[in-house]
Amino acid sequence: MSKKQINKVSRLLLLLVFSINFNFPVLNAQDNEEVINRCATMEYLELRLMENPELENKMMAIEKYTQKWIRDNAFLTSKNKEIITIPVVVHIVYNTSAQNISDAQVHSQIEVLNQDYRRLNSDAANTPSFFQPVAADCQIEFCLAKRTPEDSATSGIIRRNTNVGSFTLDNKVKFDSLGGSDAWDRDKYLNLWVCKLAGGYLGYASFPGGSPEVDGVVTRYQSFGKYGSAQPPYHMGRTCTHEVGHWLNLLHPWGNWGGCSDDDYVSDTPNQEGPNYYCPVYPQPSCSDTSDMFMNYMDYTNDSCMNTFTKGQKLRMKAIIDSVRAPLKTSNGCQPVIGIAENTFIPDIQIFPNPSNGYVNVISSHTYTQDLEFIVYDLLGNIIMESSVAGSTGINIKIDLTAEPSGVYFLKITGMGQSRVEKIFILGTK
Ligand SMILES: [Zn+2]
Repeated sequence: MSKKQINKVSRLLLLLVFSINFNFPVLNAQDNEEVINRCATMEYLELRLMENPELENKMMAIEKYTQKWIRDNAFLTSKNKEIITIPVVVHIVYNTSAQNISDAQVHSQIEVLNQDYRRLNSDAANTPSFFQPVAADCQIEFCLAKRTPEDSATSGIIRRNTNVGSFTLDNKVKFDSLGGSDAWDRDKYLNLWVCKLAGGYLGYASFPGGSPEVDGVVTRYQSFGKYGSAQPPYHMGRTCTHEVGHWLNLLHPWGNWGGCSDDDYVSDTPNQEGPNYYCPVYPQPSCSDTSDMFMNYMDYTNDSCMNTFTKGQKLRMKAIIDSVRAPLKTSNGCQPVIGIAENTFIPDIQIFPNPSNGYVNVISSHTYTQDLEFIVYDLLGNIIMESSVAGSTGINIKIDLTAEPSGVYFLKITGMGQSRVEKIFILGTK
């Protein structure tokens, strides 16, 4: 990055607190006249920068790294066919039954994300031919989580009843204690919250670099998914497509500041003066290019008029998935938990005596083609003992916990991508 570019990033972030917010009045069917804010991500960022001035330095460092990564990897990335799959947990925080959206509506949102980020959207052909050469399959997919951070089976959908009538940009929706729902580990999951938002906000996202406990995307229940409570013209799941773009470090096409001299650090999205709304007719230039790319997911047009990301945007997202969000690549969040709920893993296991004085026998005639790992934890999660046996011979081991204090312990047996946890009670050793 040149000195000029660094100065530009710095200036833009420093001035964010004074940046322009683009609000847009429309008639909303439920709330009468209200000001719709298509995206509150920049306002949300301003609040976080005021709370935490260090965030600005962190984001500048990420921007510098991102631009270097793109210079170094652009060619290789164009040849790479790898698909990244991001596990997703959806927190439905509802105050009324209408806000408690259905599983089907959640599934429709995941489907939209998978279509839009793979350019499998049915309206891809609506991208004007002028922009077709830069339209991108971003090679990112999303799956609803199949296991919790604690390795229990899950549908990937959490439902929380709340007394909070509507949420704002203050992060309350992200904490159990404040009427919301705690985030799951952001290194393993993309957290999506769905709730009633005050102020006409459709949604907002946290950029890479923020606090882990508030990391993710918030969308109002009327703009999430394609069915049920989703209301036109924001009823095709594109609010979430847009906000996940921010979560993966995309900016609006007009940059932070707006105006034809500011941009989004992406060369194949033309500069534009500010947001486009409704459904413009192509071409629609606001600066000196052929047309604004108003059909880009990162603009403010109606859901039915958005249909593309670009190759340049894809590179920014790939850069962040290769750095700040790299732990997601090895997340097991979408690997099903087999056997815990039904206890089909080692079904004939015997643990005796239990309680014991410290010697515990673990026996099973069941055989497996891989080794089985045994770990004993205490109540604080400290590992007391580890061992493994060949799964092909069945299990016949004696665990010696005679040196440990009396109390409750957990035996976790793992193998074949499955695991089983049993409680062990030790009495009368110390
Ligand atoms: Zn936005």
